[in-house]
Amino acid sequence: MKYDLIVLGSGPGGYVAAIRASQLGMKVAVVERESLGGICLNWGCIPTKALLKSAQVFNYIQHAEDYGIEIDKSKANFEKIIGRSRDVANSMSKGINFLFRKNKIDVIEGQGMLKSGKKIEVDKDGKKTVFEAKNIIVATGGRSKELPNLSIDNKNIIGYRKAMSLEKLPKRMVVIGGGAIGVEFAYFYKSMGTDVTIVEFLEQGALPREDADISKELNKIFKKSGITVRSSTKVNSVEEKGKSLSVEIEDVKKGKKETLDCDVVLSAAGIAPNTENIGLEELGVKTENSMIVVDDFYRTNVDGIFAIGDVIPGPALAHVASAEGIICVEKMAGESPNPLDYNNIPSCTYCTPEVASVGYTETAAKEKGYEIKVGKFPFSASGKAKAAGTPEGFVKVIFDAKYGEWLGCHMIGNNVTEIIAEAVSARKLETTGHEIIKSVHPHPTMSEAVMEATAAAYDEVIHL
Ligand code: NAD
Repeated sequence: MKYDLIVLGSGPGGYVAAIRASQLGMKVAVVERESLGGICLNWGCIPTKALLKSAQVFNYIQHAEDYGIEIDKSKANFEKIIGRSRDVANSMSKGINFLFRKNKIDVIEGQGMLKSGKKIEVDKDGKKTVFEAKNIIVATGGRSKELPNLSIDNKNIIGYRKAMSLEKLPKRMVVIGGGAIGVEFAYFYKSMGTDVTIVEFLEQGALPREDADISKELNKIFKKSGITVRSSTKVNSVEEKGKSLSVEIEDVKKGKKETLDCDVVLSAAGIAPNTENIGLEELGVKTENSMIVVDDFYRTNVDGIFAIGDVIPGPALAHVASAEGIICVEKMAGESPNPLDYNNIPSCTYCTPEVASVGYTETAAKEKGYEIKVGKFPFSASGKAKAAGTPEGFVKVIFDAKYGEWLGCHMIGNNVTEIIAEAVSARKLETTGHEIIKSVHPHPTMSEAVMEATAAAYDEVIHL
């Protein structure tokens, strides 16, 4: 069977590329060795959001009295919470199957291997079949990065997959890495009752690449909730000591070593691309540091072979992979899409409070040489946040003082991941601060804080 396009991998990069290609008139097939939807739907974005919702509900119940509600007894049933998360993931995966059928996309089950002549050999339980296409997109995604001496054995040291499906709630957990994965699981397990310590190499601690004010606020809130964050610290080794684990950590500035005891270690130190054993070397596809090298339209150095998502350099985010997939197939179909603006990619972390950002941090804007105007609006001054009982956090905006360009927007607070898109759209439309101040925001909403923070940058803030 010859296709116009075969996509290797059905994650948010692959399945979106396949659907867009089908809309553009291509005959498309997707090769997948596991469940449809990739890590995002099955072991990432979606099931973690289900776990985090359970944690949030449990936290609300524990603070029900703050809302005038008396609840006698509540208990988090860990097994049922994990079960719910798996159910949500499974139903989403079925949704992709529906979308594929609707768009007449063939699903080829099995392990795919690129072959010369724009072919893919698919191995399904030892039976190999070769398929041919005019173009092939590699969208095989990534997996947990394993640190030297700290390999993931899924017993003592676990990765995100196992962290989403543990049978029993651990009493004490050490999390290596304070990035999005580390922070989301730290919040979840702490909410369930686990004693959690995050060990983060970088100085800012939790979410160390966010704007410094945001990390500072999150570290403060985590500390208050009982999550320990050890910044500027690395994990050297993990050893079994009787029934528990002994984790050697080291202060990277002072060189001081100490040990932490725990029951399980979660390794959340980034991800590695799935670029091995898919035939890239045999075809001569260029890679650098295991990442596939592509141009602005995701073409590799080999004609007809494209790559998107976590296998290429750039942020390893579902929405980035999807955007890359769409641009890739539109260009393939002869359309004229613009290259993706990697400086306008929103980043969201779903602990409580949530964190969302887009564009330059204050430090990065200054380093770039911009003269800036900064405005901040705390949710403690927001009627909606106060009414919701969630006054923590703030919105911070950064504008170029000279031309009014919206350089960056950073938020921490209840549901802020739902309002960051305003900044993304406005920046895409090259909106200035003046237009944001003059755009009427509904009252009372959390989104008013964006308007007020912008007004604060221009000394026009009303509610502060
Ligand atoms: P990450 O790169 O965001 O964070 C890993 C952290 O581990 C870094 O801050 C790094 O400094 C630290 N680290 C590395 N080695 C260490 C060591 N030896 N000791 C202590 N700290 C160490 O990676 P992640 O959190 O694992 O997430 C992987 C990818 O998945 C990221 O690209 C992330 O953006 C994405 N993701 C996104 C979301 C979301 O959007 N909500 C959720 C989960 C994952």
